[in-house]
Amino acid sequence: MKFKIAAVALSLGMSGFAFGAMAETIGIAMPTKSSARWIDDGNNMVKQFQEAGYETDLQYAEDDIPNQLAQVENMITKGVDVLVIAAIDGTTLSNALANAAAADIKVIAYDRLIRDTPDVDYYATFDNFQVGVQQANTVVQGLKERFPDVKPWNVELFGGSPDDNNAYFFYDGAMSVLQPMIDSGEIVIPSGQMGMDTVGTLRWDPATAQSRMDNLLSANYTDKEVHGVLSPYDGLSIGILSSLKGVGYGSGDLPMPIVSGQDSEVQSVKSIIAGEQYATIFKDTRKLAEVTVDMVNAMLEGEEPEINDTETYDNGVKVVPSYLLEPVAVDGSNWEEVLIGSGYYTEDQLK
Ligand code: BGC
Repeated sequence: MKFKIAAVALSLGMSGFAFGAMAETIGIAMPTKSSARWIDDGNNMVKQFQEAGYETDLQYAEDDIPNQLAQVENMITKGVDVLVIAAIDGTTLSNALANAAAADIKVIAYDRLIRDTPDVDYYATFDNFQVGVQQANTVVQGLKERFPDVKPWNVELFGGSPDDNNAYFFYDGAMSVLQPMIDSGEIVIPSGQMGMDTVGTLRWDPATAQSRMDNLLSANYTDKEVHGVLSPYDGLSIGILSSLKGVGYGSGDLPMPIVSGQDSEVQSVKSIIAGEQYATIFKDTRKLAEVTVDMVNAMLEGEEPEINDTETYDNGVKVVPSYLLEPVAVDGSNWEEVLIGSGYYTEDQLK
Protein backbone atom coordinates (compact mmCIF):
# COMPACT_ATOMS: atom_id res chain seq x y z
CA MET A 1 0.00 0.00 0.00
CA LYS A 2 2.67 2.47 1.03
CA PHE A 3 4.78 1.58 -1.99
CA LYS A 4 1.87 2.27 -4.32
CA ILE A 5 1.33 5.72 -2.84
CA ALA A 6 5.06 6.45 -3.14
CA ALA A 7 5.03 5.49 -6.81
CA VAL A 8 2.03 7.74 -7.48
CA ALA A 9 3.59 10.66 -5.64
CA LEU A 10 6.86 10.26 -7.54
CA SER A 11 5.19 9.97 -10.89
CA LEU A 12 3.30 13.18 -10.14
CA GLY A 13 6.58 14.78 -9.24
CA MET A 14 5.29 15.86 -5.87
CA SER A 15 7.45 13.88 -3.53
CA GLY A 16 8.78 16.39 -1.06
CA PHE A 17 10.47 13.61 0.84
CA ALA A 18 13.69 11.75 0.43
CA PHE A 19 13.24 8.54 -1.49
CA GLY A 20 12.07 5.77 0.80
CA ALA A 21 10.76 8.20 3.41
CA MET A 22 7.22 8.70 2.19
CA ALA A 23 4.80 10.68 4.27
CA GLU A 24 2.88 8.43 6.58
CA THR A 25 -0.86 8.90 6.90
CA ILE A 26 -2.67 9.55 10.15
CA GLY A 27 -6.37 8.69 10.28
CA ILE A 28 -8.14 11.01 12.71
CA ALA A 29 -11.64 9.97 13.81
CA MET A 30 -13.49 12.67 15.77
CA PRO A 31 -16.97 12.29 17.31
CA THR A 32 -18.95 15.33 16.17
CA LYS A 33 -18.85 18.84 14.79
CA SER A 34 -21.80 19.84 16.97
CA SER A 35 -19.38 20.95 19.68
CA ALA A 36 -16.66 23.50 18.94
CA ARG A 37 -14.02 21.71 20.97
CA TRP A 38 -13.87 18.74 18.60
CA ILE A 39 -13.56 21.06 15.63
CA ASP A 40 -10.58 22.68 17.36
CA ASP A 41 -9.12 19.25 18.16
CA GLY A 42 -9.38 18.17 14.52
CA ASN A 43 -7.95 21.41 13.15
CA ASN A 44 -5.08 21.48 15.64
CA MET A 45 -4.12 17.91 14.84
CA VAL A 46 -4.27 18.35 11.08
CA LYS A 47 -2.10 21.46 11.35
CA GLN A 48 0.47 19.91 13.66
CA PHE A 49 0.61 16.55 11.89
CA GLN A 50 1.08 18.25 8.53
CA GLU A 51 3.79 20.51 9.92
CA ALA A 52 5.54 17.35 11.12
CA GLY A 53 5.41 15.94 7.57
CA TYR A 54 2.43 13.58 7.79
CA GLU A 55 -0.63 13.24 5.60
CA THR A 56 -3.94 13.36 7.45
CA ASP A 57 -7.40 11.94 6.94
CA LEU A 58 -9.82 13.71 9.31
CA GLN A 59 -13.38 12.40 9.73
CA TYR A 60 -16.31 13.45 11.91
CA ALA A 61 -19.16 11.05 12.67
CA GLU A 62 -21.91 13.35 13.99
CA ASP A 63 -22.26 11.26 17.15
CA ASP A 64 -23.46 8.27 15.15
CA ILE A 65 -21.77 5.05 16.29
CA PRO A 66 -22.12 3.00 13.06
CA ASN A 67 -20.91 6.03 11.12
CA GLN A 68 -17.72 6.27 13.20
CA LEU A 69 -17.16 2.54 12.96
CA ALA A 70 -17.45 2.73 9.15
CA GLN A 71 -15.02 5.65 9.05
CA VAL A 72 -12.46 3.78 11.13
CA GLU A 73 -12.88 0.59 9.05
CA ASN A 74 -12.42 2.63 5.92
CA MET A 75 -9.20 4.17 7.21
CA ILE A 76 -7.91 0.69 8.02
CA THR A 77 -8.75 -0.52 4.51
CA LYS A 78 -7.04 2.50 3.00
CA GLY A 79 -3.93 1.56 4.95
CA VAL A 80 -3.34 4.51 7.27
CA ASP A 81 -0.24 4.10 9.44
CA VAL A 82 -1.77 5.35 12.69
CA LEU A 83 -5.32 5.82 13.96
CA VAL A 84 -6.13 8.63 16.39
CA ILE A 85 -9.64 8.10 17.71
CA ALA A 86 -11.92 10.09 19.99
CA ALA A 87 -14.60 7.45 20.33
CA ILE A 88 -18.33 8.17 20.47
CA ASP A 89 -18.98 4.96 22.36
CA GLY A 90 -15.77 3.69 23.91
CA THR A 91 -16.85 0.04 23.69
CA THR A 92 -17.83 -0.46 20.07
CA LEU A 93 -14.52 -0.51 18.22
CA SER A 94 -12.99 -3.80 19.39
CA ASN A 95 -13.44 -5.75 16.14
CA ALA A 96 -12.25 -2.92 13.93
CA LEU A 97 -9.19 -2.41 16.10
CA ALA A 98 -8.35 -6.11 15.93
CA ASN A 99 -8.16 -5.63 12.17
CA ALA A 100 -6.01 -2.54 12.67
CA ALA A 101 -3.62 -4.52 14.86
CA ALA A 102 -3.47 -7.30 12.28
CA ALA A 103 -2.48 -4.68 9.69
CA ASP A 104 0.15 -3.28 12.06
CA ILE A 105 -1.66 0.04 12.43
CA LYS A 106 -0.94 1.82 15.70
CA VAL A 107 -3.86 3.20 17.68
CA ILE A 108 -4.04 6.19 19.99
CA ALA A 109 -7.12 6.83 22.11
CA TYR A 110 -7.60 10.57 21.94
CA ASP A 111 -9.20 12.32 24.93
CA ARG A 112 -11.62 9.41 25.51
CA LEU A 113 -10.44 5.94 26.51
CA ILE A 114 -11.23 3.11 24.09
CA ARG A 115 -12.47 0.19 26.16
CA ASP A 116 -12.64 -3.62 25.88
CA THR A 117 -9.73 -4.10 23.51
CA PRO A 118 -6.05 -4.96 23.77
CA ASP A 119 -5.48 -3.07 20.51
CA VAL A 120 -4.99 0.44 21.76
CA ASP A 121 -1.38 1.51 22.19
CA TYR A 122 -1.53 4.81 24.08
CA TYR A 123 -3.98 7.29 25.55
CA ALA A 124 -3.55 11.07 25.25
CA THR A 125 -5.92 13.01 27.50
CA PHE A 126 -6.38 15.39 30.40
CA ASP A 127 -6.53 14.45 34.04
CA ASN A 128 -10.23 13.66 33.87
CA PHE A 129 -10.72 13.05 37.60
CA GLN A 130 -9.16 16.44 38.23
CA VAL A 131 -11.59 18.00 35.73
CA GLY A 132 -14.44 16.77 37.94
CA VAL A 133 -12.74 18.03 41.09
CA GLN A 134 -12.33 21.46 39.51
CA GLN A 135 -15.95 21.50 38.31
CA ALA A 136 -17.22 20.82 41.83
CA ASN A 137 -14.78 23.33 43.30
CA THR A 138 -16.15 26.05 41.02
CA VAL A 139 -19.68 25.19 42.12
CA VAL A 140 -18.72 25.40 45.80
CA GLN A 141 -16.77 28.61 45.31
CA GLY A 142 -19.75 30.15 43.49
CA LEU A 143 -22.21 29.03 46.17
CA LYS A 144 -20.11 30.69 48.87
CA GLU A 145 -19.83 33.84 46.80
CA ARG A 146 -23.44 34.22 45.59
CA PHE A 147 -25.32 32.57 48.47
CA PRO A 148 -23.16 33.21 51.56
CA ASP A 149 -26.11 33.14 53.98
CA VAL A 150 -28.00 30.16 52.58
CA LYS A 151 -27.96 26.87 54.49
CA PRO A 152 -28.13 24.26 53.11
CA TRP A 153 -27.48 24.87 49.44
CA ASN A 154 -29.86 23.12 47.02
CA VAL A 155 -27.86 21.53 44.23
CA GLU A 156 -28.69 19.25 41.29
CA LEU A 157 -26.25 16.96 39.50
CA PHE A 158 -25.75 16.24 35.81
CA GLY A 159 -23.43 13.61 34.36
CA GLY A 160 -21.97 13.12 30.89
CA SER A 161 -22.71 10.34 28.42
CA PRO A 162 -22.69 6.88 30.03
CA ASP A 163 -20.91 5.43 26.97
CA ASP A 164 -18.00 7.84 27.45
CA ASN A 165 -15.46 6.60 29.99
CA ASN A 166 -14.57 10.20 30.83
CA ALA A 167 -18.05 10.86 32.15
CA TYR A 168 -17.43 8.56 35.16
CA PHE A 169 -14.11 10.24 35.93
CA PHE A 170 -15.73 13.69 35.82
CA TYR A 171 -18.57 12.52 38.05
CA ASP A 172 -16.33 10.71 40.53
CA GLY A 173 -13.95 13.66 40.70
CA ALA A 174 -16.83 16.03 41.37
CA MET A 175 -18.35 13.75 44.01
CA SER A 176 -15.03 13.51 45.82
CA VAL A 177 -15.68 17.18 46.64
CA LEU A 178 -19.49 17.19 46.93
CA GLN A 179 -20.22 13.92 48.76
CA PRO A 180 -18.56 15.03 52.02
CA MET A 181 -20.60 18.25 51.87
CA ILE A 182 -23.77 16.24 51.27
CA ASP A 183 -22.88 13.99 54.19
CA SER A 184 -22.32 16.99 56.45
CA GLY A 185 -25.60 18.60 55.39
CA GLU A 186 -24.05 21.70 53.78
CA ILE A 187 -25.47 20.63 50.43
CA VAL A 188 -28.75 18.84 49.73
CA ILE A 189 -29.95 17.30 46.48
CA PRO A 190 -33.72 17.97 46.64
CA SER A 191 -34.53 15.59 43.74
CA GLY A 192 -32.52 12.83 45.40
CA GLN A 193 -31.15 12.00 41.94
CA MET A 194 -27.56 10.85 42.20
CA GLY A 195 -25.23 8.36 40.50
CA MET A 196 -24.20 8.17 36.86
CA ASP A 197 -26.98 5.69 36.01
CA THR A 198 -29.52 8.32 37.08
CA VAL A 199 -27.93 11.65 36.17
CA GLY A 200 -26.06 10.66 32.96
CA THR A 201 -26.88 12.49 29.72
CA LEU A 202 -26.75 10.22 26.68
CA ARG A 203 -24.46 11.55 23.86
CA TRP A 204 -23.88 14.71 25.87
CA ASP A 205 -27.08 16.08 24.34
CA PRO A 206 -27.96 19.66 25.42
CA ALA A 207 -31.69 19.17 24.72
CA THR A 208 -31.77 16.12 27.01
CA ALA A 209 -30.17 18.16 29.80
CA GLN A 210 -32.59 21.02 29.24
CA SER A 211 -35.65 18.81 29.51
CA ARG A 212 -34.27 16.99 32.55
CA MET A 213 -33.71 20.38 34.21
CA ASP A 214 -37.30 21.37 33.31
CA ASN A 215 -38.54 18.23 35.02
CA LEU A 216 -36.32 18.70 38.07
CA LEU A 217 -37.63 22.23 38.52
CA SER A 218 -41.28 21.39 38.17
CA ALA A 219 -41.08 18.30 40.38
CA ASN A 220 -38.89 19.65 43.18
CA TYR A 221 -38.68 23.42 43.21
CA THR A 222 -42.18 24.83 43.38
CA ASP A 223 -41.52 25.81 47.00
CA LYS A 224 -37.77 26.28 47.02
CA GLU A 225 -34.86 27.69 45.04
CA VAL A 226 -32.06 25.84 43.32
CA HIS A 227 -28.65 27.33 44.12
CA GLY A 228 -26.22 25.25 42.13
CA VAL A 229 -26.08 22.81 39.23
CA LEU A 230 -23.11 20.54 38.55
CA SER A 231 -22.82 20.43 34.76
CA PRO A 232 -19.97 18.49 33.16
CA TYR A 233 -19.94 20.16 29.72
CA ASP A 234 -20.64 23.63 28.32
CA GLY A 235 -23.24 22.35 25.86
CA LEU A 236 -25.27 20.88 28.74
CA SER A 237 -24.78 24.08 30.74
CA ILE A 238 -26.40 26.07 27.95
CA GLY A 239 -29.45 23.79 28.01
CA ILE A 240 -29.62 23.93 31.81
CA LEU A 241 -29.32 27.72 31.85
CA SER A 242 -32.08 28.14 29.33
CA SER A 243 -34.35 25.92 31.40
CA LEU A 244 -33.56 28.04 34.48
CA LYS A 245 -34.13 31.30 32.61
CA GLY A 246 -37.42 29.89 31.35
CA VAL A 247 -38.84 29.87 34.88
CA GLY A 248 -37.41 33.26 35.85
CA TYR A 249 -33.99 32.56 37.36
CA GLY A 250 -31.47 35.33 36.71
CA SER A 251 -34.09 38.08 36.90
CA GLY A 252 -36.05 39.91 39.58
CA ASP A 253 -35.26 38.47 43.00
CA LEU A 254 -34.38 34.99 41.72
CA PRO A 255 -30.59 34.89 41.38
CA MET A 256 -29.09 32.61 38.75
CA PRO A 257 -27.82 29.36 40.29
CA ILE A 258 -24.14 28.53 40.04
CA VAL A 259 -23.66 26.40 36.92
CA SER A 260 -20.33 24.75 36.04
CA GLY A 261 -19.14 23.57 32.62
CA GLN A 262 -16.28 22.25 30.56
CA ASP A 263 -14.35 23.06 27.37
CA SER A 264 -14.37 26.87 27.44
CA GLU A 265 -16.48 26.97 24.30
CA VAL A 266 -16.99 30.47 22.93
CA GLN A 267 -20.70 30.62 23.69
CA SER A 268 -20.14 29.61 27.30
CA VAL A 269 -17.24 31.98 27.85
CA LYS A 270 -19.54 34.74 26.60
CA SER A 271 -22.16 33.50 29.05
CA ILE A 272 -19.58 33.68 31.88
CA ILE A 273 -18.67 37.22 30.87
CA ALA A 274 -22.40 38.07 30.90
CA GLY A 275 -22.72 36.65 34.44
CA GLU A 276 -24.88 33.64 33.55
CA GLN A 277 -22.76 30.46 33.51
CA TYR A 278 -20.45 30.64 36.53
CA ALA A 279 -17.39 28.71 35.34
CA THR A 280 -15.98 26.28 32.82
CA ILE A 281 -12.82 24.21 32.45
CA PHE A 282 -10.12 25.00 29.93
CA LYS A 283 -8.49 22.06 28.22
CA ASP A 284 -5.93 23.35 25.73
CA THR A 285 -6.58 21.27 22.62
CA ARG A 286 -3.36 22.61 21.06
CA LYS A 287 -1.41 20.84 23.80
CA LEU A 288 -3.40 17.64 23.40
CA ALA A 289 -2.60 17.67 19.69
CA GLU A 290 1.07 18.22 20.54
CA VAL A 291 1.14 15.25 22.90
CA THR A 292 -0.53 13.12 20.24
CA VAL A 293 1.91 14.14 17.50
CA ASP A 294 4.83 13.38 19.83
CA MET A 295 3.38 9.95 20.58
CA VAL A 296 3.02 9.20 16.89
CA ASN A 297 6.56 10.36 16.12
CA ALA A 298 7.99 8.16 18.84
CA MET A 299 5.94 5.10 17.88
CA LEU A 300 6.83 5.33 14.22
CA GLU A 301 10.48 5.65 15.12
CA GLY A 302 10.20 2.55 17.25
CA GLU A 303 10.72 4.49 20.46
CA GLU A 304 8.68 4.72 23.66
CA PRO A 305 6.42 7.79 23.72
CA GLU A 306 6.59 9.98 26.80
CA ILE A 307 3.86 9.01 29.25
CA ASN A 308 3.10 10.15 32.79
CA ASP A 309 0.47 7.66 33.95
CA THR A 310 0.54 3.88 33.89
CA GLU A 311 -2.13 3.16 36.49
CA THR A 312 -5.35 5.04 36.03
CA TYR A 313 -6.86 3.98 32.73
CA ASP A 314 -7.78 0.32 32.81
CA ASN A 315 -9.88 -0.28 29.70
CA GLY A 316 -11.21 -3.63 30.87
CA VAL A 317 -8.46 -5.58 29.10
CA LYS A 318 -5.32 -3.68 30.06
CA VAL A 319 -4.08 -0.48 31.63
CA VAL A 320 -3.45 1.85 28.72
CA PRO A 321 -0.28 3.92 29.14
CA SER A 322 -1.35 7.54 29.20
CA TYR A 323 -0.22 11.11 29.06
CA LEU A 324 -2.44 13.35 31.20
CA LEU A 325 -2.50 17.10 30.73
CA GLU A 326 -3.63 19.49 33.46
CA PRO A 327 -7.04 21.18 33.11
CA VAL A 328 -7.56 24.77 34.29
CA ALA A 329 -10.72 26.16 35.93
CA VAL A 330 -11.97 29.35 34.30
CA ASP A 331 -14.45 31.84 35.76
CA GLY A 332 -15.27 35.53 35.60
CA SER A 333 -12.01 36.42 37.32
CA ASN A 334 -9.47 34.72 35.05
CA TRP A 335 -10.96 34.07 31.59
CA GLU A 336 -9.01 36.91 30.06
CA GLU A 337 -5.67 35.83 31.45
CA VAL A 338 -6.19 32.12 30.67
CA LEU A 339 -8.00 32.19 27.33
CA ILE A 340 -6.76 35.36 25.70
CA GLY A 341 -3.41 35.44 27.45
CA SER A 342 -2.59 31.98 26.08
CA GLY A 343 -3.63 33.02 22.57
CA TYR A 344 -6.39 30.38 22.52
CA TYR A 345 -8.99 33.00 21.62
CA THR A 346 -8.74 36.57 20.41
CA GLU A 347 -10.66 39.29 22.20
CA ASP A 348 -12.88 39.69 19.14
CA GLN A 349 -14.04 36.07 19.31
CA LEU A 350 -15.41 36.62 22.80
CA LYS A 351 -17.26 39.89 22.09
C1 BGC B 1 -14.57 15.39 26.71
C2 BGC B 1 -15.09 16.73 27.18
C3 BGC B 1 -16.35 17.09 26.42
C4 BGC B 1 -17.33 15.93 26.34
C5 BGC B 1 -18.48 16.25 25.42
C6 BGC B 1 -15.66 14.37 26.80
O1 BGC B 1 -15.18 13.13 26.46
O2 BGC B 1 -13.45 15.03 27.51
O3 BGC B 1 -14.11 17.71 26.98
O4 BGC B 1 -16.99 18.15 27.09
O5 BGC B 1 -16.69 14.77 25.93
O6 BGC B 1 -18.04 16.46 24.12
